[in-house]
This record gives sequence, C-alpha cells and structure tokens, in this order.
Amino acid sequence: MNLLDFLFPKRCVGCKIVGTYFCKDCILEIAQTELVCPFCERASIGGVVHPGCKRRFGLDGLWSLGIYQNPLREAIKKLKYKWVKELALDLVNLTLDYWARYQPYFFELIKKDQGKNWLIVPVPLHFTRQNWRGFNQAALLSKLFAAKMGLEYQEALKRVRSTKPQVGQLSFDRRQNIKGAFALTGQSIKGVNVLLVDDVWTTGSTLKECCYVLKRGGAKQVRAITLAR
Ligand SMILES: [Zn+2]
Ligand SMILES: [Zn+2]
Repeated sequence: MNLLDFLFPKRCVGCKIVGTYFCKDCILEIAQTELVCPFCERASIGGVVHPGCKRRFGLDGLWSLGIYQNPLREAIKKLKYKWVKELALDLVNLTLDYWARYQPYFFELIKKDQGKNWLIVPVPLHFTRQNWRGFNQAALLSKLFAAKMGLEYQEALKRVRSTKPQVGQLSFDRRQNIKGAFALTGQSIKGVNVLLVDDVWTTGSTLKECCYVLKRGGAKQVRAITLAR
C-alpha cells in the first residue's frame, strides 16, 4: 500500500466499503435500461437510430451503460472533479463487459472491419465540465476505450468558442447555445466511422452537434458512447 492509498483509501462509490472504487454488489445496482434511438429517444434494439429517424448529419446510434442515478452518478461525479484514473478504468471495463454480453452487435460490426476505419473521438472539454486542472474526463475515457478495443484514438474535434454553462437551460436553449461551438482539428476523417465518447448524455445536444461537425467533415457513421443517460 502506498502512502496515498493509506491517506485516501479507495472507497466504493456506493456503499463506501474500503478497498475498491466500485464493489461487486454496487455494480449490480447500476440501473440498466433499454437502449434508445439517439433521435427520438424511444426504445431501439442495439441503440441504433430508427430508419425513420435517420438524418444526414445525425447520429447513427447511442450506447449508454446505465441510467444517471446512484451509484453510477456518484462514480461519474468523482471522475469529473477528482483525478481517479483507476475508477475510469473500472467504468470502461464495466461498459465493455455489458456491451459484449448484452449488445454484441457493435462489437461484431467493428470486428468485421478488423478495427480499420474506426476512430475513438472524445467530446472536447466543456466549459461546464472543466475542473481547475482543465482535465477532460471524456478524453481519459476515450483513451481507455481505444486501448481496450484496439482502436485508434484521435482528438478530431476542438472547441472554437466557449458556451454558457448548460446547467439549468431549457433543451431548446442548449441546442442554440452549442451551435458552432466545435470544429475539426484538421486531420482527415473522410470515410471513417467514429465512436464519439462522453461521460453523460443529458439532452444529447453536445453529442449531436459534435456529430454534425464530424459528418460535415466526411465521417461515414458516428455512434455515441456514454457511461450514463
Ligand atoms: Zn459498494
Ligand atoms: Zn427514433
């Protein structure tokens, strides 16, 4: 045990038991739900966009680990405000585990391509999500997903203007607020498939705007991955 572990012992985000960030019992408490279409947010097998909901520059799918409530909520909060890399790894492993078990569809798709033409792209740092270190938890999660899945990680998007904090805004205002906030960083993404990673899907306005920019830039399909919804 190192000194840091001694001073700040790992505690389960759910039951506070010492020795782990997420104990086996609390992991089972993560509320799962049916996956939904990223456009209408109604149930959809595999989180794939309904044929009638498909838009030219819209998301092709949405996959979330669980509902944004405790203990997952507590875990994500911890990720946001404290640098807890080990917890991030737990969450990524958990997501991939659920994913492989209950929704193998995505994995099969990527395997068929042997991972070629697939990129993992993080949502750039949000104004609202920035901690004092400027730490982007979406980038941390993305890197872990990329390493685990054997896919390339690319910071294909950047923020080009700051937006007002999204918290407390109505859904319409959020959409207006985020418009034009992102741009491509320059590397070509023509014809590639993108797994766009963020920690939480709330109204989806940020992920949808990122998707818009990626597809305008030539991305073939864009699927969102979030820990919670
Ligand atoms: Zn626990
Ligand atoms: Zn739909």
